[in-house]
Amino acid sequence: MLDAVVVGAGPAGAAAALSLAQAGRDVVLLERGPFPGAKNVYGGVVYGRVLDAVVPRWWEEVPVERWVVRRSTAVLTETQALTVDFRTQAWGEAPYNGMTTYRARFDSWLADKAVEAGARLVTSTVATSLLRDARGRVAGVRTDRPGGDLPARVVIACDGVNSFLAKEAGLLPRADAARHTLGVKEVLSLPREAIDERFGLHGDEGLDLEILGGTLGIPGGGFLYTGADTLAVGAVLSLPHLAKARIRPEQVVAALKRHPAIAPYVRGGELLEYSAHLIPEGGYDALPAKLALDGLLVAGDAAGLALATGLWLEGVNFAIGSGLAAGRAAAAALERGDVSERALASYRRALESDFVLRDHKRLRRAPELVLSQRIQQRYPGLICDLVEGAFTVTNPTPKPGLGRLARRTAARHGLRLRELASDGLKAARAFR
Ligand SMILES: Cc1cc2nc3c(=O)[nH]c(=O)nc-3n(C[C@H](O)[C@H](O)[C@H](O)COP(=O)(O)OP(=O)(O)OC[C@H]3O[C@@H](n4cnc5c(N)ncnc54)[C@H](O)[C@@H]3O)c2cc1C
Repeated sequence: MLDAVVVGAGPAGAAAALSLAQAGRDVVLLERGPFPGAKNVYGGVVYGRVLDAVVPRWWEEVPVERWVVRRSTAVLTETQALTVDFRTQAWGEAPYNGMTTYRARFDSWLADKAVEAGARLVTSTVATSLLRDARGRVAGVRTDRPGGDLPARVVIACDGVNSFLAKEAGLLPRADAARHTLGVKEVLSLPREAIDERFGLHGDEGLDLEILGGTLGIPGGGFLYTGADTLAVGAVLSLPHLAKARIRPEQVVAALKRHPAIAPYVRGGELLEYSAHLIPEGGYDALPAKLALDGLLVAGDAAGLALATGLWLEGVNFAIGSGLAAGRAAAAALERGDVSERALASYRRALESDFVLRDHKRLRRAPELVLSQRIQQRYPGLICDLVEGAFTVTNPTPKPGLGRLARRTAARHGLRLRELASDGLKAARAFR
């Protein structure tokens, strides 16, 4: 019998297998794709600080496209754009902040780290169900290979959003569309020099642009990231609103690419890839009540641990953080010879005390606020009109003054200054 089987070689699974192998445990990492990352979809930016403790100086070997030195946020209406653009050269030097990287390369690299530490990677194999012992405790997984049962003392389900295994164990409620968004993305090929020139980049410097508005009225947001010689452009969209609007997700990406502020960036880009995937968007309040049962832990997207809050679109770092914590909790439980739900409860406590659940808890109101009708429908227009009003030279009419302009613009968008102040307060609380 194995010490542990980890299902899914995404970042959560590779991290869980890595920490179990580093603790000297006999662990199999199971992946349904032909190699780790083959089936994984994301936008393009990984924040690697979480790796410091397990892969020292990871930045010297990670398969990076570009190091993000420019972090921009754009607010769009159909004809306007306000962009807040931040740049720091500090993020272009070790130990770095964020990088763009392809999942096929990044996930394979992280899974290799687990293999180097002693984990066994088994690809092209699907875990089809949980095995139970005579007392009903999880005791391994059944796979789609003939005679492919893998008995194990602990199973860590890292099988992604809508986890089949977590559902079978009763840890996840029925999928609720309102608590998921659909992420869609195109990868466009462009010569490296064109990317450098268009975005003011040099060498391996990169840009991360997050976008509010421009999604054809569907609550969500857009993104644009620079690879070495590719751009990733896409959107994260509220599922119920997308269904109601009867708009296809690729139409939203096409609209973003046509926007006057985005079109010059993507001009001439040749479509290499289109992909779409669900994102668990419910935040802290939508997390499963339990993250452990007798012999079972759940990590990463499978546990709903991703944050798309407008300012941040992060899942990989939470997947790695929770995978590492799950692996450590499993290793400690195995060491004590007790893999009961009670013994594995140390996993949740570890998450509560590190960035994974502290960030989710702190930002628990942010996903709902960012996706709210008011923020999505009124604020992009209001903000852009306010800035347009402030920068429009009205001579020979005297300038209206910023206070009057704010009142007039707010009224035009059906809001009073008091409501603006109250929304500002809500935002300050949600992002405190
Ligand atoms: C469009 C989009 C943009 C995003 N952008 C970003 C971003 O820029 N930065 C960021 O940090 N996050 C981003 N995210 C979120 C991020 O992709 C996820 O949070 C992250 O991939 C979660 O990692 P994971 O290991 O939990 O799950 P996954 O990466 O989904 O990995 C699950 C793995 O399990 C395997 N698997 C599933 N079922 C089985 C089974 N039964 N048997 C065997 N194997 C199985 C799958 O093949 C897969 O390899 C984005 C998501 C989307 C959809």
